[in-house]
Amino acid sequence: MNKEIIFLNPVFTHNIWGGTKLREEYGYPVEGDDIGECWGIAAHDNGDCTIAKGTFLGMTLSGLWKEHREVFGGIGGDRFPLLVKIIDAKDDLSIQVHPDDTYAAEHEDGSFGKMECWYILDCPENASLVIGHNARTKEELVDMVENKRWGELIREIPVKKGDFIQIDPGTVHAIKGGLTILETQQNSDITYRVYDYDRLSNGKPRQLHVQQSLDVITVPAKPVEDSVIHVDETKANELMELIRCQYYRVYKLDVKGEANVMMSQPFLIMSVVEGSGKLDGQPVKKGDHFILPAGYGQAKFEGEMEIIASTVA
Ligand code: ZN
Repeated sequence: MNKEIIFLNPVFTHNIWGGTKLREEYGYPVEGDDIGECWGIAAHDNGDCTIAKGTFLGMTLSGLWKEHREVFGGIGGDRFPLLVKIIDAKDDLSIQVHPDDTYAAEHEDGSFGKMECWYILDCPENASLVIGHNARTKEELVDMVENKRWGELIREIPVKKGDFIQIDPGTVHAIKGGLTILETQQNSDITYRVYDYDRLSNGKPRQLHVQQSLDVITVPAKPVEDSVIHVDETKANELMELIRCQYYRVYKLDVKGEANVMMSQPFLIMSVVEGSGKLDGQPVKKGDHFILPAGYGQAKFEGEMEIIASTVA
């Protein structure tokens, strides 16, 4: 049995659409009023978390993956497969789309593609997100993009706190201002911007990737009801699966009092998104990200907490 929990130090990004919530509400020690993302579990060239305590103190997650594969159940793969982040959008993010593995391997120097999913941590009343588009054919898509018919192109859908959204590669999407989400995704940082609301960053518009976007956007878009999962009251103290796709499985765990979870996955990523308590005697709180290693066995949670967990498919 390996009972050593791998706690990680997150990495932060600054973005024109970011804010201060990640410091003020989640307690992360990061300066600035443009904090966009907290990469809680990441082993990527653009952000590699370090281990915060214990046997592997100071190692990067990518180093741990390379040198101690036993922590992850000995599974294969040249890169750590997943990336988990909290995104605080004070303003709208650009309208964007991600490639799949095949396109990314060919056009992005061997990168993974990006399938991702969002759990909505917080949002205003009557919030919405951009998921999918309204073009019926490729010709119509090209026409709408080239002639900047954004209002007709993009599909906005209402969402509420606790909704869970799956975003396949090729899906046009955008997070709107006011939303805070937890994203579980393939370990990739490839984003193609279709439209950026004509905003300026340091006096210039940010680069768009129109051709790549047109290459990868799925036409027609998949129906809304296949993308949004409304999570009703979850059973307390049970690890509940939200989604399983070819890359990841994502779960929710509401701890109310005491929860005992028997862990059977090769490893289990966990992010505390609300509340505080203990995990096998160690204090954990909102904003903490950690990994239960292979062979951890039974995990005992105490307190009042909401946790989003994930592992490989
Ligand atoms: Zn995305």
